[in-house]
Amino acid sequence: MNDYQRMWEKVLDLVRQTTDPMVFSAFFSSVQPVSFTDGLFSIRTNNPLTAEYVKKNLGAVIESNLSKEAQRKVTLQVIVKDDPEIEDEPPAFEEEADALPVPETKTLRAQEPPKLNANYVFSNFIIGPSNQFAHAAAYDVAHNPGTSYNPLFIYGGSGLGKTHLLHAIGHAIYERDNSKRILYITCENFCSDFQASLSLRNNIHYFREKYRSNYDAILIDDIQHLSLVNKTQEEFFNLFEYLYSNKCQIVMTCDKSPKDLKNISERLITRFEWGVVADIQPPDFETRLAIIKNKCLSLGFDIGDDVGRFLAEKIQNHVREIEGVLTRLSIYASLQNQPISIKLAKECLKEYTSDQNISMDVIKRAVAAYFDISIADLTSKKRPKNIAKPRQLAMFLCRSMTNSSLNEIAASFGGKDHTTVLYACRKIEECKNTDDDLSSQIDTLKKYIIKNRREEIDH
Ligand code: ADP
Ligand code: MG
Repeated sequence: MNDYQRMWEKVLDLVRQTTDPMVFSAFFSSVQPVSFTDGLFSIRTNNPLTAEYVKKNLGAVIESNLSKEAQRKVTLQVIVKDDPEIEDEPPAFEEEADALPVPETKTLRAQEPPKLNANYVFSNFIIGPSNQFAHAAAYDVAHNPGTSYNPLFIYGGSGLGKTHLLHAIGHAIYERDNSKRILYITCENFCSDFQASLSLRNNIHYFREKYRSNYDAILIDDIQHLSLVNKTQEEFFNLFEYLYSNKCQIVMTCDKSPKDLKNISERLITRFEWGVVADIQPPDFETRLAIIKNKCLSLGFDIGDDVGRFLAEKIQNHVREIEGVLTRLSIYASLQNQPISIKLAKECLKEYTSDQNISMDVIKRAVAAYFDISIADLTSKKRPKNIAKPRQLAMFLCRSMTNSSLNEIAASFGGKDHTTVLYACRKIEECKNTDDDLSSQIDTLKKYIIKNRREEIDH
């Protein structure tokens, strides 16, 4: 790695800390450092949308960090690769440039591994009656992508393993054949990518290129988020048709069955049902116990039969909750050097539940009380500062303390647009690093919210 590449990595790390993860991955995955000479640092992307966004919104932050790193004034130059006035880049980058969108025919060259969670694989997915069918369908699709069932539609409640199966499919396809191109994307990211492409002229073209660039499998998580944005649905419909006719395997997850999806066009729902629809139900006692034992093995401790059965009895719905409690249990046991007992498990369970199950309502109530305004003000369209700031804070807290999506938060704040929520979160995130008052206000509010929640549980 050259010096300027190292410098870029460092600066990227700093930018990552203050940028919304979604925005970060959308805009930085395709940016490469090119050179650093005479105080001019050049980066390159092949997407004008990315170039424009980075220049406009992050240019100053990047320049100031580059200047700090180089200990001199540095100017940033963003090059769009297709720009004919720009000479070809050094050979080191040519390979990667080739791997970027739209080769005419499918190549058999090894592809970059898809960006997936390494822990979500088939081998550690516990099968039981509640998820057997979904698992079998996922496994089949992973071994015959594009030829068995297309699309595969997996649905079920939160924390039951849908995302896990989706990633497992991606891993398995790539493991069997590393020339396969696989894209995993959350539907939320798809939507904001699309919205962003609309806001700048001509960028719809690049958006389409990105999603139509010879993928063998596209894995789309939480498709229910498509429901609120109409134009996006149309774009998704066209993309679906394109992918389907090109034998690209499509896998979608959703929190409800196609039939129960509100606000999604009939023609899309029909297509969702073309292949196989598989549901995942909450696991039964035996499956929960097997998940608990397996998870403990991977965390490196033995839970014992009594404690295992106690937790399998108490946690009925979410596998995610099982993991949270077990992680906490292993930390407590090793920190306090205590044996793992039912008493300790009970404590962990109680703490976990009170930290996690925080609803947006609890947050709104706490923020409204703290700033002495009404909940109606918080969700209204009024814009005076004494209301606008608490509203942004409340949105930020909903995003960081609940699992709610941008769209869900937007809907619960009086039907706003999801970009309003994104903007609020970024703004608070940005300010809290430089504004000590704001950051202590956030801490106080978080404590206050958790305290309120615990009191609710004890009653
Ligand atoms: P969903 O996408 O349905 O909300 P996730 O796939 O994120 O749920 O699962 C939540 C957590 O539970 C993940 O860490 C996942 O690994 C774990 N999990 C869910 N189901 C299983 C299972 N059957 N076996 C092992 N782990 C599971
Ligand atoms: Mg999920």
